[in-house]
Amino acid sequence: MVKKIPLGSTGIDISPLVFGTLPLGFLQADLSPAEGGKLIRYALEGGVNAVDTATLYETYPHVREGLKGFRGEVTVITKTHAPDPATARAHVERGLKDLGRERLDIVHVHAARIADPFTERAGVIEELVRMKEEGKIAHVGLSSHYISAVRSVASRPEIEVVHPLINRTGMGILDGPPEEMGEAIRLCAEAGKGVYAMKALAGGNLIAEARASFAYVLGLAGVHGVAVGMLSEKEIDANIALFSGLSPDPVVWKELESRRRRLAIMANFCKSCGNCVAACGSGALTLVNGKPVVDEAACVLCGYCGAECPEFIIRVV
Ligand code: SF4
Ligand code: SF4
Repeated sequence: MVKKIPLGSTGIDISPLVFGTLPLGFLQADLSPAEGGKLIRYALEGGVNAVDTATLYETYPHVREGLKGFRGEVTVITKTHAPDPATARAHVERGLKDLGRERLDIVHVHAARIADPFTERAGVIEELVRMKEEGKIAHVGLSSHYISAVRSVASRPEIEVVHPLINRTGMGILDGPPEEMGEAIRLCAEAGKGVYAMKALAGGNLIAEARASFAYVLGLAGVHGVAVGMLSEKEIDANIALFSGLSPDPVVWKELESRRRRLAIMANFCKSCGNCVAACGSGALTLVNGKPVVDEAACVLCGYCGAECPEFIIRVV
């Protein structure tokens, strides 16, 4: 059973293994709500007690299915990528309705590629704080790929939880090396912020060294948990064992670590609009002869480019 630990000063105890739902949705594996919900429920039964989703992921039906009838305490976390306060409010209201909750435990400003969310998303942060006062949100958070933004959270009382991108190669961090992100994380934790990390495996790029990569992130001072996308019961079992400090089955881990993921673009159907290139904060896409080409060394397999493609022809597979 995964031991629960305090998420900073929030009063929430989370399992260090947080179920990341991004891969369940249309941006990646595109599982049905029944299939995705079954996996979430399996993890909850195994002791995972925190589920990470986002407005952008379109996985609320999966989460709702996984929670249906479950009696244990579960921390439900979502994110809004809204550019303005009205849209942020609409995203939260939609989350409440689609997830079937009276209150959302944590809502992050989904600021992956925004260097200074305290300036560029100030209105959104204020609106989330307002909705917290209205009782619709328990805690306001920030998710970011920027060291500078994570560092700022330490001195921002309105942000109680931070969801930083960190992995041992630093892939996907937009403004410095992993050591500096680690230092920003430590500062946040010392200030009482809850910290759970994302992209410990760089979206699958580090899967061949998954155990060492998780150990690196979990070993950083101030990290309370890691969101991990999981697509099979075998993978959930292996991660629960790993995050519980047990020795997971080496044969299963070898199998998991041999998987490969990639960005699939059906270029024949591309209309050369360039939306995907603009959506990629990692600078991994360029248009060559009007068609997107991915630099695999820079791509963290987040699938966010796919969300901006009007032709729905980009997926992480
Ligand atoms: S190319 Fe797409 S999947 Fe890769 S990092 Fe950029 S947005 Fe994410
Ligand atoms: S967003 Fe879609 S249609 Fe537009 S350039 Fe990219 S792949 Fe082509």
